[in-house]
Amino acid sequence: MDSATNKPEQEKPEERLAKLLYEALKSYLEPKQIEEVERAYRFAAEAHIDQYRVSGERYICHPLSVALVLTEIRMDQAGIVAALLHDVLEDTPVTKEMLADEFGENIAELVDGVSKLSHIQFRSKAEAQAESMRKMFLAMASDLRVIMIKLADRLHNMRTLGVMKPVKQRRIADETLGIYAPLANRLGMNNIRLELEDLGFKARYPVRRRVLEEAVKRARGNRKELVSKIEIGIKTRLINAGIECRVVGREKHLYSIYRKMINRRVNFSEVFDVYAFRIITDRVDSCYRALGAVHNLYSPIPGKFKDYIALSKANGYQSLHTILKGPHGVPIEIQIRTKEMHGVAETGIAAHWLYKSTGKETQVRAHEWLRNLLDSHEESGDSMEFIENLKVDLTPKEIYLFSPKGDIIKVPMGSTAVDFAYAVHTDIGNRCVAAKVNKRVVPLNTRLKNGDAVEIITASWARPNPAWLNYVSSIKARTGIRTYLKNFKEKEAIELGEKLLEKELNVLGKTYDEISGERIIGLLEELGLPSLDALLGEIGLGNRMALLTARRLTHKEGDEGIKLESGKDRDTESPLVIRGTEGMVVNLANCCKPIPGDPIIGLFNPGKGVVVHHQGCRNVAESKKNNRNWLEVAWASKTEGQFVVEIRVEVLNQRGALAAIASAISAVDSNIENITMDDHDGHTSTDFIRLAVADRLHLSKVMRKLRALPAILKIVRVMS
Ligand code: MN
Repeated sequence: MDSATNKPEQEKPEERLAKLLYEALKSYLEPKQIEEVERAYRFAAEAHIDQYRVSGERYICHPLSVALVLTEIRMDQAGIVAALLHDVLEDTPVTKEMLADEFGENIAELVDGVSKLSHIQFRSKAEAQAESMRKMFLAMASDLRVIMIKLADRLHNMRTLGVMKPVKQRRIADETLGIYAPLANRLGMNNIRLELEDLGFKARYPVRRRVLEEAVKRARGNRKELVSKIEIGIKTRLINAGIECRVVGREKHLYSIYRKMINRRVNFSEVFDVYAFRIITDRVDSCYRALGAVHNLYSPIPGKFKDYIALSKANGYQSLHTILKGPHGVPIEIQIRTKEMHGVAETGIAAHWLYKSTGKETQVRAHEWLRNLLDSHEESGDSMEFIENLKVDLTPKEIYLFSPKGDIIKVPMGSTAVDFAYAVHTDIGNRCVAAKVNKRVVPLNTRLKNGDAVEIITASWARPNPAWLNYVSSIKARTGIRTYLKNFKEKEAIELGEKLLEKELNVLGKTYDEISGERIIGLLEELGLPSLDALLGEIGLGNRMALLTARRLTHKEGDEGIKLESGKDRDTESPLVIRGTEGMVVNLANCCKPIPGDPIIGLFNPGKGVVVHHQGCRNVAESKKNNRNWLEVAWASKTEGQFVVEIRVEVLNQRGALAAIASAISAVDSNIENITMDDHDGHTSTDFIRLAVADRLHLSKVMRKLRALPAILKIVRVMS
C-alpha cells in the first residue's frame, strides 16, 4: 500500500487495532506509559515486518489483538508491552538481550517467560497428564502476567482458528479445553474461561455442540414461563424489603452442561433443570438481608447454604450461595454478592490489577495465590469449587519434567538428573552415566528446573555411585542406590571370596569339588556361620583369611595345628584379575592411585575388602612388613572407564601457562578433574593436577605432551 494514501477507508487493519488499543489504555494509563506502548508496537511491527498470519493479515495484528484482550482486565503497562512483543523471541531474530537493552530486564523476562510456555507441547489427553501440565505452567511462570498473556494469546488464536486445517483445529481445541480453559478457571478469570471453552467446544465437537444448543433452545422455551415467574417473585420480594439490587437469571453454558453430562453420566434434563439466579447488591449488609428475603420466599434446602463473604475463598472470591425449593419442587440456585465481589468473580486474579496496582503488594499477593493454586487438588466441574479442596502450603514441593517420550515426571524440588532417572525406572537409575537437559549434555548432579526435557544416558556396565547419595533429593533414588550398593557389595564379596578360596585350595593341591559337603557344614558350624555364602563373603571382605580357611577344609583327621608352608612361592600363583571397575569390594587405593599398566598388589582391609595399591606405594612396604595378608592382583587385558591419577608440575608463571596446560591435556583426550596451585616466589608455581586417563600408556602420552610446553620445568606423577 502506498504510504501517501492514508484516507480513513484505506486504514490498514493493524492501524485500526493500534488505535483501539491506545483508546482503551487511555482510561487507565498515563500518556507517558502509552508512549512506551507505542514504542513497543513499532519495535514489534518492525521485527515481524515480513510475516503474515495464515488468514493473510500482517502478523503484527496478532500481538495487537492480544494486547487489546488484556486491556479488558486492565493489564498494566509492562504486561501490555510484553504482550506486543510476545512472539518476537520465537519468530524473529530478536534476542532476549536485545529486548533487555531496549525495554529493560523486566520486559525481557516477561517475554521470555511467554516463549518458554510456547515450547511446552501438550501431547496426551490423559487427565493426570493435563493436570500436571497445568501445574507446570503455573510453576514455570513466576510472574502471573506471563500466564495472562499466554491466555490472551490463546484466546486470540482460538478466535481465528477457522483458517487452520481441521486436524490442527482439533489439536489446538484439545489443548485449549485441557490446559488453557482450566488455567483461566484457576485464576478465576471467568470471562476468558467461558470464551475459551465455547470456542474449544465448537472446534472440537461441532455436531454435539449444535445438538445441545438446539436442546437448550427448546428447553428454554418450555421453561420461560416458570423462569420469569420465579424472577418476578424474587424481585418483588426484594423491593418490598427495601433492598437495592439487580436480579439476573444465570444461563448454564453449553460446555459446562456437556461436561456435567459426561462426567456425572446424567441426562440433559437433570443438568438443565436447575434454575439459577444472581442477586447483585450495592452493600455487604444488603447481601445478608437479601438472603433472609429469599429464604422467606422459598424454603432453603438444608446444608446447601455457604457463606463465602465471611470466609472468602483463597483467590478472594466472595458470595453467598444457597439453594431453594421452588414451585413444583424445582431447585433454585441463588448467588448473592456486591458489585465489587462480582468484579472479582468475573476477572479473578486480574481484579488485583483493577483495584490494587501498588507494585510490590500486588506481586506478593499474586505469588501467594499462585502457590496456593499449585498445591490445590484437581478442581471439580464448578467454576470455583477447586478452592474448597485447597491445602494451604506455601512452598511448591515438586517440579515437573519431560521424558523423551513426552511423559511428565514429577520429582521433588531440588532434584537432579539421578533423581529423574530413578523416577523413570530403577533400572534406568542403576545404569545412568550422564544426562541431557534440553538436548545439552550435563553432569548427573545438575539440579533440574520446571519444564526441563531430560534424557538419561545409560551404559550396561554402569552402576550406582555411592557419591550420588550426597546430592539426590528423592526417596526413590536414595532407596534405589542404597539397595543396589548393599546387594552388590554382598554379591561381589561372595564372588571374590570364592575366587580367593579356590586359589588357596589349588595351592594345597585340591580343587573346590574335592571338598566334601560334610567338611563344609562342619566348618560352618564351628565358625557359627549360617551358609557357605556367608563364609565366602567373610573371606571376600577380608574378615577371614582364605589360606587358613583352605587349610581347615583340607587338613586330615588328627592333623593337629597348621603347618606354615614357608617354601610356598607366591610368584607362581595365578593372580586375581581386576578390571578396575569392580568398585565395592575391590577398591583402587587413594594414596597411590594405580592405573592400568601399573604393577599392583592387593591389601586386605578387614570389613571392606581388597584395596589395590601400586607396588611402589609406601603403604605397601609398611603392610608387607607387619602383615602378610596381601594378595596377588593383575590388570585384566582390557579395562574399562577412566582412572584418576595425580601429577605434580612445576610451572613458570607466565601468562597463559595454565591455559596451555589445559589445552595440551584435552588435546590428548584426557580430562582435568581438579587443580591445586602452590605459588612459590612469584616466578614459579607447583600445580597438582588430577587427571582422568585410560591407562599408563595414556598417562605417558599426557606427560610427553606437557613436557613439550616451554612453561613446564618439571613434571612427576604423585604416588602418595
Ligand atoms: Mn502469539
